[in-house]
Amino acid sequence: MNRRALIKGALGGVLGLTLPPLARSAFSQGSPAVVPVSDGFVMLTGAGGNVLVRTASTGQVLVDSGAAAFTDKVLADLRGLPGGGRATTVFNTHWHKEQVGGNLTFGRAEATIIAHEKTRAHLATDYYLHDEDRYEKALPKEARPTVTFFTGDQTLAGKERIEYGYLLEAHTDGDIYVFFRDANVLAAGDAISPLKDPMLDWFGGGWLGGRADSQEKLLKLTDAKTRIVPSYGPVVGRAELQAEFDMTRTLFDRMLDLVRKGMSAQDMLDAGLMKDLNRTFHDPYRFTYDAHKGFWAHHNSLAPNVL
Ligand SMILES: [Zn+2]
Repeated sequence: MNRRALIKGALGGVLGLTLPPLARSAFSQGSPAVVPVSDGFVMLTGAGGNVLVRTASTGQVLVDSGAAAFTDKVLADLRGLPGGGRATTVFNTHWHKEQVGGNLTFGRAEATIIAHEKTRAHLATDYYLHDEDRYEKALPKEARPTVTFFTGDQTLAGKERIEYGYLLEAHTDGDIYVFFRDANVLAAGDAISPLKDPMLDWFGGGWLGGRADSQEKLLKLTDAKTRIVPSYGPVVGRAELQAEFDMTRTLFDRMLDLVRKGMSAQDMLDAGLMKDLNRTFHDPYRFTYDAHKGFWAHHNSLAPNVL
């Protein structure tokens, strides 16, 4: 029996569900779905951001809680899985609304919410959304992370080792990975972007250099069999992560050169910033503008001639 048949058999048998044969095809249809990831792991799509679930009769572990508008759907999906919707632990990969919208529900049910300290701090106060020119309200106390860290830590769920660590400025200032080492399943949050254009929340602390370093860090955690779960898009493997890192690194090197020449985002595009990359961007200007903004926030650490 091949791996896919094994997963389908195991999950379908337990759940009585007909699961899509391929995560990628399920996602591309844009329909909400419970997508198999690995033995004992599923991904809920169609909830704003992806929600990774480790199922177990003793309780479920979630990575991200989806957008608030989808909490009822997430709960309904969780109730149909082993563990019956009792989430003992919820990780937040970062503080964007599509990742923390279910926190209030799970926090009230006394789940432990684990995140980077910067994510907790962000959610504990009103914060400015540059794109929308308004303040987002702080989350109620019960919805905020209860366990935080700075560099990394680990915990156990049954016998499963869960390691988690900081991804410095990959997308915001509070990004983390969550690595289920024994199962070889890695939640990478928005530090990778296999489907959408990579997004750099430059006002929230993300920048291209942080993204390149973070993807390199993720590569070191993985092997050829690792299942990697992003905030958006399908589950990917190490080859896709390597390809995205190569692209990020190329863009960083090119942008460092071009920013030294004093170029604007549009100048950079005109000068061939995106030439011969291994993917096509939906909105090259938006990405370049955000990356360029992020560079200026870091000009003092780039080179003496960038000012
Ligand atoms: Zn995000």
